[in-house]
Amino acid sequence: MIYFNQITMLKNVIAPIQAWLISQGRCVADGQPLDKGKKEKRKDGTFKIVHSCGRIYIYDSKTKKYRRALLEEV
Ligand SMILES: [Zn+2]
Repeated sequence: MIYFNQITMLKNVIAPIQAWLISQGRCVADGQPLDKGKKEKRKDGTFKIVHSCGRIYIYDSKTKKYRRALLEEV
């Protein structure tokens, strides 16, 4: 029970930090800028970015926003 609560607390702390990093165009894992990653244009006009750490993001040039790629987009 204590263990569960600690994980929940940790998630509550980490999730806003990750959301903030992405909103700044930075990787959630290493904090490095995502525009340095390898960009690949997708059919829907968004870009798939493979970061140097191996994490995959989607960049929407219309909204100028990054987000984590979903499993089916990888
Ligand atoms: Zn990274």
